[in-house]
Amino acid sequence: MHADAEFGRPVRTSGGAWLSEVRALGLPTGLYRAVDRLLLAGPTQRSTVRFGTEQPVVLDVTATYQHLAGLATAAGARLYPGHRVTAATTTPRGFRCELGGVTVDCRWIIDATGYRRTVLQALGHAPAWWRLGVGAEVECADEGSAFNGALLFVGHRWAPTGYGWAFPTPAGRLRLGIGLQRPDSTASPSALLREFLASSAPAELGLRPGAVIARHGGVVPSAGLADACRWGRAVGVGDAIGQARPLVGEGIVASIQAGRALGAALGASQPEAAVDDYWQVWRAGHAAVYARSLAGNHRLSTMSDERWDESVRRIGWLRGPAVATLLRGQLGTAELVKLAFTNPVGILRYAASKATSLRRREP
Ligand SMILES: Cc1cc2nc3c(=O)[nH]c(=O)nc-3n(C[C@H](O)[C@H](O)[C@H](O)COP(=O)(O)OP(=O)(O)OC[C@H]3O[C@@H](n4cnc5c(N)ncnc54)[C@H](O)[C@@H]3O)c2cc1C
Repeated sequence: MHADAEFGRPVRTSGGAWLSEVRALGLPTGLYRAVDRLLLAGPTQRSTVRFGTEQPVVLDVTATYQHLAGLATAAGARLYPGHRVTAATTTPRGFRCELGGVTVDCRWIIDATGYRRTVLQALGHAPAWWRLGVGAEVECADEGSAFNGALLFVGHRWAPTGYGWAFPTPAGRLRLGIGLQRPDSTASPSALLREFLASSAPAELGLRPGAVIARHGGVVPSAGLADACRWGRAVGVGDAIGQARPLVGEGIVASIQAGRALGAALGASQPEAAVDDYWQVWRAGHAAVYARSLAGNHRLSTMSDERWDESVRRIGWLRGPAVATLLRGQLGTAELVKLAFTNPVGILRYAASKATSLRRREP
């Protein structure tokens, strides 16, 4: 059951991912565009990062989701777009769902409704998320932007508690957006985006956005990974259980990976045990990174402009692979030590400046 009339529309995500991950998923190359540079813009500081082989990619979101729906159909799934689940209850044999006048009985139920977690909430297994990332984005013509890479901009003027972005799309357009944290900020991302577009800031960043072709908006949980994915024969996946990496709210690839693993488990002869095994493996592989990444997300949400500038400067000392690791929330002490072997000078400067700033904060 899929609430939208069409797969991949409306677009609620920016479509950023990593080349190695979309390759591992087997997505056709025509569905994404790789970018080799990232410009980080703080309130006054700028840094440019050049990625090596581990590049970010920007997906054609609608085409990607339609491709995935096609794979599901080819594998024998029957898809029902235009069907919104409005209520779910338990019955002696399983579950009963209401779909706007149609009633469906089922033995298993999977909640993939995103941040709304409609089914898990209706069944009383999970409350509404208490913390969310909210974003607004425009896709516009590109009138010749000077910077042909990805751009992240940070600081209180345009992105209090969050960050802004500009990505070149596979169709040669520009995707420009702003995301904030709730309840950390009550500002409106769409109002900020409108002001940003009307200001001189895009031109100062080398962007030349033209006519707006589409407006996107979305919400992603920002409160950490759920403790469980299965409650009896009710299962959650994707944003419904917080599977987006919280540092920058990156959940497309994780949701696809988890959805595939969960689907395989549900097809096993002992689905309960297989789902529990899948969850154990998934948590073992991800829980620590997610916890660290959530802590980072909370820190970023309260950073002063001065600290943003300092961080932008420091990130400029790192090599591309280190920045990729950092953005995925994977940069712990062990990774820093490993990276020291690939860019010792940068890491030493990074560590020295970190020590200086820690000393500065001591009472
Ligand atoms: C502004 C913004 C930008 C983002 N950018 C990125 C990015 O660049 N890269 C990245 O990896 N992640 C990004 N994310 C996060 C990413 O979009 C999510 O983590 C990911 O889409 C989660 O996938 P999902 O399938 O769990 O949920 P969703 O993609 O939200 O899909 C849920 C689906 O369920 C349907 N649905 C909802 N309610 C019902 C119902 N009652 N009955 C039936 N169907 C229902 C919806 O219509 C929707 O199609 C972004 C999020 C936001 C908000």
